[in-house]
Amino acid sequence: MQYVSTRGGGEAVSFSQALEQGLAPDNGLFVPQTWPILADASPGPLIDTAERMIAPFLEGDALAPQLHAILDDAFTFPAPVTRCDERLSVLELFHGPTAAFKDFGARFLAACLTRIPRDAARPLQILVATSGDTGGAVAAAFHNRPGIQVTVLYPKGLVSPIQERQLTCWGGNVSTLAVRGPFDECQRLVKEAFSDAVLRQRFELSSANSINVGRLLPQMTYFAATAAARHNGKINFVIPSGNLGHATACVWARKLGFPIGEIVLAHNANRTIPDYIETGEWKPRPSIATLASAMDIGNPSNAERLRFMFPDIADFRDALSAYSVDDDSIRDGIRWGWDEYGQIWCPHTAAAAQVYRRHVGAEAKEPWVVVSTAHPAKFSETVEPIIGRPVPMPKTLQALMDRPVSVREIEPELSALVKAIA
Ligand SMILES: *Cc1c(COP(=O)(O)O)cnc(C)c1O
Repeated sequence: MQYVSTRGGGEAVSFSQALEQGLAPDNGLFVPQTWPILADASPGPLIDTAERMIAPFLEGDALAPQLHAILDDAFTFPAPVTRCDERLSVLELFHGPTAAFKDFGARFLAACLTRIPRDAARPLQILVATSGDTGGAVAAAFHNRPGIQVTVLYPKGLVSPIQERQLTCWGGNVSTLAVRGPFDECQRLVKEAFSDAVLRQRFELSSANSINVGRLLPQMTYFAATAAARHNGKINFVIPSGNLGHATACVWARKLGFPIGEIVLAHNANRTIPDYIETGEWKPRPSIATLASAMDIGNPSNAERLRFMFPDIADFRDALSAYSVDDDSIRDGIRWGWDEYGQIWCPHTAAAAQVYRRHVGAEAKEPWVVVSTAHPAKFSETVEPIIGRPVPMPKTLQALMDRPVSVREIEPELSALVKAIA
């Protein structure tokens, strides 16, 4: 399997190359050149489904014989489905080390990159700018991986206390930099670093954000396994969405032939996608801060993959629908989950539950699955006042809270970043 750019430029590359480069040379995103035909959609454990469905995407690559070991290394925690009632279930993706679904993608990417042979004199340097969840998942996944260094940049004072812990509790091969400036400055610094001559000479530079195809492939697997577990008919999903990594992965799983019906995206007040579907006009915009902060995205990066797949807006509309919910509605969703089902949901999960409740659930005959993207303990300051009780912290998160902190502050200047890394 080869990978090509959504913008049509450059040569087709192997899986390993697509992973290491992250972005295509023409700044497009890598997509598979051809689509495998699924031989077997039978139900089974997540890791078996994952191996069957990912194998064709690695065909011909040096990593292909190691796929089993890669999945063993990456998928060390479950993705259980809990039932609310006859029609509604919740797919829990928050049982990994940093209690958000990003652990699946980050750990798979780390397990792959560790196994690509490289020149010891020029280590791989992963640069990540984060506004919260991504940096923690990437740091956790790459911590103690030989031959790989990670630098995480976050906006000082602008992430939650638990998120800050998850970014700063690593040390070793992970350096964390608190940038005196907003997230946009962190992102700008990372971009500039990629063209810095000193850094490029010393390191092989790569990024680990959700445009990397190595984060998308593992995210297909739990949609597929959940759908395959159904005896007949199809499963519909409501997905809390920001950069549309999940949306893309779910569309890919359906394209492979797994019995997935409707895919509905839940957005917060950042309405770029709902508006695009309504009007057909592509209008990215600055992000708006909401309670579901991991979805505060005004210019969703993976939209490029979806629009590449469905260039005609009519086909895009057939493939996906999307709704927006405001903060009051998110609070309502948290209350509803607790009162109705005794479940505690994070704000992102609650946004999806509200979309189910308001827009698709009423006439549902087929089963619906709301995707739960983070553990509520990560957002206890929002959740606890609504349900009127403390949210128990999972052991994995508690373990991170007990580690020592190491972080350096830098000015938002490239020279400060280069000095900190080199
Ligand atoms: C990243 C994230 C999202 C958004 O996922 P995308 O794949 O970028 O659309 C939703 N919820 C949580 C908790 C996240 O961390």
